[in-house]
Amino acid sequence: MNTQPTASHFINGKYVEDTAGDLIEVIYPYTGQVIAKLHAATPAIVDQALDAARLAQQQWASWTGTERGRVLRRAADIMRERNHDLSMLETYDTGKPYSETSVADATSGADAFEYFGGLAGSITGAYIPLGDNFVYTRREPLGVCVGIGAWNYPTQIACWKGAPALACGNALVFKPSETTPLCALKVAEILIEAGVPAGVYNVIQGYGAVGAALVTDPRVDKVSLTGSVATGRKVYAAAAEGMRHVTMELGGKSPLVIFDDADLDAAVSGAILGNFYSSGQVCSNGTRVFVQKGIKPAFLARLSERLQGVVMGDPLDPATNYGPMVSAAQRDIVAGFIAKGQAEGARLVTGGTIPDGPGFFLPPTVFADVTDDMTIAREEIFGPVMSVLDFDTEQEVLARANDTPYGLAAGVFTADITRAHRMAAGFQAGTCYINTYNDAPVEAPFGGMKLSGVGRENSKAAIEHYSQIKSVYVRMDKCEAPF
Ligand code: NAD
Repeated sequence: MNTQPTASHFINGKYVEDTAGDLIEVIYPYTGQVIAKLHAATPAIVDQALDAARLAQQQWASWTGTERGRVLRRAADIMRERNHDLSMLETYDTGKPYSETSVADATSGADAFEYFGGLAGSITGAYIPLGDNFVYTRREPLGVCVGIGAWNYPTQIACWKGAPALACGNALVFKPSETTPLCALKVAEILIEAGVPAGVYNVIQGYGAVGAALVTDPRVDKVSLTGSVATGRKVYAAAAEGMRHVTMELGGKSPLVIFDDADLDAAVSGAILGNFYSSGQVCSNGTRVFVQKGIKPAFLARLSERLQGVVMGDPLDPATNYGPMVSAAQRDIVAGFIAKGQAEGARLVTGGTIPDGPGFFLPPTVFADVTDDMTIAREEIFGPVMSVLDFDTEQEVLARANDTPYGLAAGVFTADITRAHRMAAGFQAGTCYINTYNDAPVEAPFGGMKLSGVGRENSKAAIEHYSQIKSVYVRMDKCEAPF
């Protein structure tokens, strides 16, 4: 597969290059080889993208919602037709196995374009009667939105930001992560092919400095970031200067609580999905697995058995179900946490050792006897490291589950339905799971509480974050003044 794109950026419907920008080398995580060379956007490229977006947005907003929706749904169809190629590219960009990317990435991007394409015609205001007079509201686009992506789901993030932004009549300038710059370019190509006007969806590459330049530009009305809390703090603060709208999809340290009445195999499945899918590089992962004391030995035994089913290897081999991590740097960070876990007295049950051979692999790693104060139980690791903690009572575990500055997700496995709902009500997290983990359908709002973020992606809730309401007062009788 040719992984070198025509050029680094996609602006106003065309590939654009400016070799004066810093070099970005794209590395295939399975071989460590450079598979593409791109350039970060120069100030001239940033200008070009924002000017194109500003101009195109006005025309795009003048289309009816149904017309906008029609081309977005066409884009969804094209994405599904090209699922194989898009999934291959996602695998090259991230190292995630094809067995995953072929069912989770372009497909979820297509879902977003289909869903928001379907909603576009229903984005309306309201009529508010005031006797003979009335007010009506108009739901208007924000203008030019900027999307800044993380590296774990490059296609999905480009679509989750693009679909609601475009459905509402905005234009978008998207900056992918410098680690995975390839997939968003394909999304931009497909949108043009589907009939979205040039300039409505642009992609420019770059490191953090390009993101920072976009966030403070006066042509920008909204910023949506998917990234770490540290970056989120900077971006939120910079956006505040211009009073720009923000959506912040940030990190987490989510709890997964397993009671002794839970279906053990289902709970183990939840723990595996919530820790080792995408080699653990998922923001909402339930990495603090609280297991009620009575079932701890059975849980650990079943988990170890099930982890024998991991097939680690060539991500393009359909039989592989576990790929390398995205980069050597990310693997080093995670290896550092594993060393800390051991130094602080957690018991390593399985994994933890970097294997010989090619690829940035790190096998599924499970620590038991983890306590709340250990570094591995407090900080986001963003890799395949599960911490198993013991608990006795519901009240105790809920307090401990919430004792974190993060609030992205939380899960509970139990057969007691009233307890399940009590736990869901008590969790301080934007997304909660009962007897499942890490589902993310486009129909449901997704986002964090506390340090994990601001705003929501997906669902009708996203419309609120990509549009604004104008109230129009209409007086039918005569307007009078006191003097
Ligand atoms: P990161 O914060 O390092 O980078 C995210 C993006 O921000 C990149 O595109 C980067 O170039 C850009 N950036 C960096 N500094 C910037 C600045 N000062 N101004 C503007 N942009 C800047 O995150 P990452 O390592 O790419 O991704 C991992 C993190 O993302 C984890 O914390 C993970 O939990 C989080 N994440 C969250 C979600 C979610 O939906 N909540 C989804 C995926 C990943």
